[in-house]
Formats: sequence, structure tokens, C-alpha cells
Amino acid sequence: MTGIALVTGAGQGIGRAVALAFARTGMRVAAVDLKANDAGHDGITAYAADVASPAQVDEVVGEVESSLGPITVLANVAGILRAGPVVEMSDLDWQDVFAVNAGGVFHASRAVARRMVARRAGVIVTVSSNAAGVPRAGLAAYAASKAAATAFTKSLGLELAPYGIRCNVVAPGSTDTPMQRALWTEAGPDPVIAGDLATYRTGIPLGRIAEPEDVADAVLFLASDRARHITMHDLYVDGGATLRA
Ligand code: NAP
Repeated sequence: MTGIALVTGAGQGIGRAVALAFARTGMRVAAVDLKANDAGHDGITAYAADVASPAQVDEVVGEVESSLGPITVLANVAGILRAGPVVEMSDLDWQDVFAVNAGGVFHASRAVARRMVARRAGVIVTVSSNAAGVPRAGLAAYAASKAAATAFTKSLGLELAPYGIRCNVVAPGSTDTPMQRALWTEAGPDPVIAGDLATYRTGIPLGRIAEPEDVADAVLFLASDRARHITMHDLYVDGGATLRA
């Protein structure tokens, strides 16, 4: 693939796998994260920005375009998770989760879309979560913020379709990253794969946790011309965990 991809949350986990996947196709990649992490791969340049800050996002998007060129693909991957029962959740946790997971997608998409609309070209892919569509105990704020990101991206897809700009969602299930490992007990991934009827949590029918590359492949496909007639789609990459993939 040619052009410039801006990937948020590219410092580790799924975002890093997405940045590497784009770079391997020959694209130049702007890897945006809270800290400018050196990705150690040709074609990837690291930038620091907090996606929760509209000013920082506008600034980094301008910086990327002046140093690398016009952004052809935006991948919204940055996200945070604060788990816990609603009755114990603080205002700050709720606000932080929405500021990054919903606000971050809005800030980056708006900044990049303004430029893409003028050029009548571009693709946006948002990495949401399968939790956006399935009730999960202890994940209410996270699930709500991801549902917001999904709905936002689909509506944006409708607004930008007349300009030939496609907007799609990838909804991962449990994926082996630092965010996922923070949820594991000492038993490791097995309880996640098996599920737990007591908490109404389905397991993973395909019997494995995803690798970040499994999610990156879906992002790459939706960003590519092979998906040129696909927009406003929500692609689940969860091994069947939501019984709908
Ligand atoms: P991760 O391992 O926690 O990595 C997330 C990356 O995003 C980190 O490098 C983090 O930087 C960065 N980040 C966090 N807040 C940011 C901000 N405000 N501005 C810029 N960068 C920020 O998470 P992951 O598992 O790779 O998740 C990637 C995406 O997939 C997230 O949106 C997540 O919700 C979604 N997802 C993950 C899973 C899963 O099982 N892993 C399942 C479904 C959906 P720092 O490390 O410096 O904080």
C-alpha cells in the first residue's frame, strides 16, 4: 500500500501491530502515543500526543502532514480500560475512559477528516471492542465508551461517503496485549477462553486468545482498496465470543 498512515496508541499492543502491518506494506507510518516510542522499524516515525486533548491532536496531525505528507489512513487504536462495578466507579474513571475511548476517536477523526474531505480521499478505521455490543459485568464504562466510538465512526462514514472517504470499525475480543494481561488471574488466559456462566460471560468458541496481528490484519483489509466498497461496517475479530462473528 502507498501513502501515510497515522496510528494512535501505536506504542504497544494492537496499535503497534497495526503500525508494523502498515509499514510492511510500504506505507509510511506516524506512530502516535502518549510517549514517542521508537518502533524500531523502517518507515515508522514516532510522535507524542494525548488523544484526549483536541489541541495536541490538531497539532500532531499538522506536524505529521508537514513532515511526512497527506494522511491517507487514520487508525484509531488508543484506548484505556478501567474495570470495576458501577457502584464503586469514580467520576474520574468514567470521565477518563470517555475522554480517551470516545473523545480520542472524535478528536483524531475530526482533525484528519477535515484534511481528507478537502482532498476527497482517505480511510478511517476505529478499533472499538466486542464489549460495545454485549453487556459485561465490571466493564460498563468501557463498554459504553466503545459503543460511543462505534456509533460515532458509523455516522462519520455516512457523512463522509459523498467524498469517497470510508469509515469502518474493527471490534476485537480478548487479544494478547498488556491491557488484556492486566485482567488475567494467575491462571492465565484459560478462564477467559473457557468463559464463566456465573458472570454470564461466554468463552471463545475458536478456543484461543487473539494475537494483536489478527486484529491488525482486519484493520489492514478495511484500510485497503480491497475493501473499497465497504463502509460503516463493524467487523468482529473475537473468535466467535459474541456468537455473532
Ligand atoms: P494497550 O496494550 O493498553 O495499548 C494501548 C496503547 O494506547 C498504549 O501504548 C497506551 O500508551 C496508548 N494510549 C492510552 N491512552 C492514550 C492517550 N490518551 N493518547 C495516546 N495514546 C494512548 O491496549 P491494547 O490491548 O493494545 O488495545 C488497543 C485498542 O484495542 C484499545 O482501544 C482497546 O480498548 C481495544 N481492545 C483491546 C482488547 C484486548 O483484549 N486487548 C479487546 C477489545 C478491544 P501508554 O502505554 O503510555 O498508556
